[in-house]
Amino acid sequence: MLDPFFMETALHAVSEACAVAREVQQALGTIKKLTKEDYSPVTVADFAAQALIALRLQESLGELRLTGEESAADLVGTQGEILASALVTAVQKVRPGLNRADIFSAVDLGNHDATGTAYWTLDPIDGTKGFLRGGQYAISLAYLVDGEVVLGVLGCPNLGADFTRAFTNPDPIGTVFFAERGRGAFSRAAGSNAAASPVQVARNRPLRDMRVCESVEAAHSRQDETQRIVEYLKTRGEPARLDSQCKYAVVARGQADAYIRLPTQADYVEKIWDHAAGMLVAVEAGATVTDIKGNPLDFSCGATLSRNRGIVCGPAPFHAAIVGAVEVLFG
Ligand code: AMP
Ligand code: MG
Repeated sequence: MLDPFFMETALHAVSEACAVAREVQQALGTIKKLTKEDYSPVTVADFAAQALIALRLQESLGELRLTGEESAADLVGTQGEILASALVTAVQKVRPGLNRADIFSAVDLGNHDATGTAYWTLDPIDGTKGFLRGGQYAISLAYLVDGEVVLGVLGCPNLGADFTRAFTNPDPIGTVFFAERGRGAFSRAAGSNAAASPVQVARNRPLRDMRVCESVEAAHSRQDETQRIVEYLKTRGEPARLDSQCKYAVVARGQADAYIRLPTQADYVEKIWDHAAGMLVAVEAGATVTDIKGNPLDFSCGATLSRNRGIVCGPAPFHAAIVGAVEVLFG
């Protein structure tokens, strides 16, 4: 069992970053103007969240091995300079004592290469496109030991407790999901220290009522093929679309029955930070998570899931039906 201090620290770090991300998202009008059409939508919030989470982990837990998505080396050129100034302003609101060099170093605490027996992985803003659109995004932090995810915290600042709220309508409070291997999944309102509630997948729903979710971005998952699976299985309803690992969370809490991610490119490999925390939350809530062939996700290959292709996540009967459909339809 992990020292409870690990989870306490991870929750604290993610909650702090959720608040900063929310503030940056509210000021997005300004950032959008600064963002060039062709510029990869890496925002101030990505870097600020990485810096703050890395610092919190290091201060609380000592020596830190963290494989984060962002690197301060990307803050170059005119665009980088604009982002860097906004980053310094955003981080200094929470930590006024830090200067620009401290903040760059904090971002680069996330430069660990995903080797060794134990390390953290972080996607400071997963679903950046959702973030820029004012939709769903997640702050995703996980701890891996011996190639297995043992702790996951998923901050979902725009996903509220109300299942009927549209994913495109950001919740004012948000939810944090967390799980430790073998100990169940839990959630509570973001920014709250209230007792957490257990999270569980929906059970006993007939296959014809299965509700599937997938990426908003057509470049990230073959939406046409998801449609073929849904038709083949004769299930009702349009797949729900939302960005980020919030998809794992909505399956974990029974709001959807499956998350399907079908490769769009033969050479794309999934990154560990795009799945580690979400996967553990879903598994601990009762879902099965594999790649599209039904193989378990292999987190022992460094920063990528190089032995896997795509994702299927859902309670066992739905998961099996989808993997079976993939085999029949796409070989
Ligand atoms: P989602 O919000 O589920 O669409 O996933 C967002 C994540 O998709 C980002 O964090 C990227 O790392 C990842 N991504 C980028 N390109 C691709 C691709 N071609 N196929 C699958 N995922 C991708
Ligand atoms: Mg991501």
